[in-house]
Amino acid sequence: MLTLPTYQDVIAAGARLQGHAHRTPVWQSRTADERLEASVFFKCENFQRMGAFKFRGAFNALSRFSAAQRQAGVISFSSGNHAQAIALSARLLGIPATILMPLDAPPSKIEATRAYGAEVILFDRYKCDREAMTRELAGQRGLTLIPPYDHPDVIAGQGTAAKELFEEVGALDFLLVPLGGGGLLAGSALSARALASACQVYGVEPLAGNDGQQSFRSGAIVHIETPKTIADGAQTQHLGQYTFGIIRRDVHDVVTASDAHLVEAMRFFAERMKMLVEPTGCLGFAAACHAGLPLAGKRVGVILSGGNVDLRRFGELLAA
Ligand SMILES: *Cc1c(COP(=O)(O)O)cnc(C)c1O
Repeated sequence: MLTLPTYQDVIAAGARLQGHAHRTPVWQSRTADERLEASVFFKCENFQRMGAFKFRGAFNALSRFSAAQRQAGVISFSSGNHAQAIALSARLLGIPATILMPLDAPPSKIEATRAYGAEVILFDRYKCDREAMTRELAGQRGLTLIPPYDHPDVIAGQGTAAKELFEEVGALDFLLVPLGGGGLLAGSALSARALASACQVYGVEPLAGNDGQQSFRSGAIVHIETPKTIADGAQTQHLGQYTFGIIRRDVHDVVTASDAHLVEAMRFFAERMKMLVEPTGCLGFAAACHAGLPLAGKRVGVILSGGNVDLRRFGELLAA
């Protein structure tokens, strides 16, 4: 039996992050409110350190290492924001970090991970089983594996973003959360249940990869092929054991957003709110606009999960 993390763990994570993570701003937009006929509160994790909420979970997990674990180091696998989150957290805590990244990861992300001081090992994602490779390296070198989402300390850390949101704006009727492997959604649901028990929490996935929706509705974890979507932070193939355990208990439903609607949301944030939000970070607002949820007259929280998109790609997406 798994012991699922609780809101107490989110509180403890919040204390560990104090003075290390940013308390990100909550922004509102008159245009968004008029469009949805609702009061919309955007929790801007695109302004978090390294550009996404993943710093919260990574830093919380590494803060809990024993002296021996710190000395030996951390290992993880990721093509994106988790890699940078582990690398930065490890540097801040003086822990050596090894990250496995796919050969075809965006060069800017590989570069950023190296720049934070991590050792990056590249692998061929079509030939290697990265999880097996990671476990083998961890065993050989005595490293502690911190996976991107299915870990109690990662989930608890991610939950601190929604905790801050509720503390700042009070109760909400809806909370819309981007969903990949479910660390952010599970953590957010823990905070919502504790701080605003009537709030309906929704996960939002890319339309092309709705394994989370299928899992939620069928009651068992569904595995899919890597989905083709511009939401690269949510190209996961399945939920985790811990994340699914919390999501099935505390989440109201999982809905989807198309790539076209993600681009529309990116344009909205850039033009109207003068911010850069990466495609995955737009899932919540895209669903607010197009998923047919009964938001009129309600107080709606939307987590903008990250802002890491290189400008050339941003331009291409908006021009298409
Ligand atoms: C990782 C990530 C997600 C998905 O988070 P999970 O915890 O895997 O569900 C969403 N948005 C961004 C920007 C991410 O980096």
